[in-house]
Amino acid sequence: MQTHVQNAYSEKALLAFPNVRVRLRSAALPIVLSEDGTENGLLGFHWKVQERERTKLMSVLERRDWRSIRTTLLNLDFNNLDSVCEWLGSAGYVAQAILEIPNSIAFTPGDVKRMASGNLGWWPEFVTSGIRDRLEKYRDAFRWMMQRNERQFRKDIKAAHEYRTAHYETAQATANAILSDNPRTLRLRDPAKAFLEDLRAPNLDANVLGLALRGTGVSEGLPVHLYWDSKGFPAIAARCGSPLEALCISIHIDRNFSQRQAVKCVQCGKWFDPIRGRDRFCSARCRNFFLTTERRKKISLVKQAAQDWTVLPTHKKANRDRAEWIVAQVSKQTAGEYALEPSWVRKVLGTSASKSHRAGEQYNPAPIAKAVTMGGRVAKRAERK
Ligand SMILES: [Zn+2]
Repeated sequence: MQTHVQNAYSEKALLAFPNVRVRLRSAALPIVLSEDGTENGLLGFHWKVQERERTKLMSVLERRDWRSIRTTLLNLDFNNLDSVCEWLGSAGYVAQAILEIPNSIAFTPGDVKRMASGNLGWWPEFVTSGIRDRLEKYRDAFRWMMQRNERQFRKDIKAAHEYRTAHYETAQATANAILSDNPRTLRLRDPAKAFLEDLRAPNLDANVLGLALRGTGVSEGLPVHLYWDSKGFPAIAARCGSPLEALCISIHIDRNFSQRQAVKCVQCGKWFDPIRGRDRFCSARCRNFFLTTERRKKISLVKQAAQDWTVLPTHKKANRDRAEWIVAQVSKQTAGEYALEPSWVRKVLGTSASKSHRAGEQYNPAPIAKAVTMGGRVAKRAERK
């Protein structure tokens, strides 16, 4: 785990800046991903790589939008290798397998040519199970972090710090027990398991989640650069060494300085950013589909209840309003899931015949509904013809 820095520092809080711009700074260079999914350090370009090709590649990486790359990762299906390749390329990863010299310190002209062929040279055969497993752990941890509210997020970070301490202590206690030959102390609670139980996140990877909550997902922290920009405003640039780090920091920034939170679309289950999208739905299409389906469901429930009303014995109908009885009936049948308004029920039963007539739907309106409708719009329409 983390190595403890032995130096002593003097640290005092001077000020809390309310309006400091926080920038994410990452080198516009591809990051090599090895077969086991670990990120290798920055590679430069071989001197033989043409200026034009280098600039073209770098300008694509300069334009990366970490929030949109993050949303795509949250929705990434690791069984769909084509979309995994597309994501890896968009995030700025390059497969170690495509490099001319596997442990090179620079991209050769041949490497650059392959990277220029789309998705930074990714093909399904380069997506090893090691890469998939590792990225999947990050996707799940990031999903988790993005849906927590502010209070939960603080508690999670606290738990992640406790987990690190517990992990360190358990390792020490285990080592001591082995050395002193005292098996009693070995009966310790697994810190990883305890941490995940605490968070009620049994399927996540404790190390990935712990590191992502405490730090950047790949390290416990990262250097920031405080400076004053050309307009004279104070700014902080967080220097990210890799796409995973940038994504993790983007989550921390959003959880601290904005209300952004990932939400699952009620209709299609896709994760999305509700500030850019629409509240419970990822798109207008999903919203319309969901609301239309819901409306149809409610209308069919009302019609069914209206049928039930017609066969009700007269003494049970006495002194009762049909619409109110239907509302109660629907609520009873759906265990309170649908709380309808009597006025809406009246409207549905009053206009359903003319509506379905227009839409050409096949259904048998309840006799009463028909009677009401015949006195209304349908009759008038018939007259006009
Ligand atoms: Zn949707």
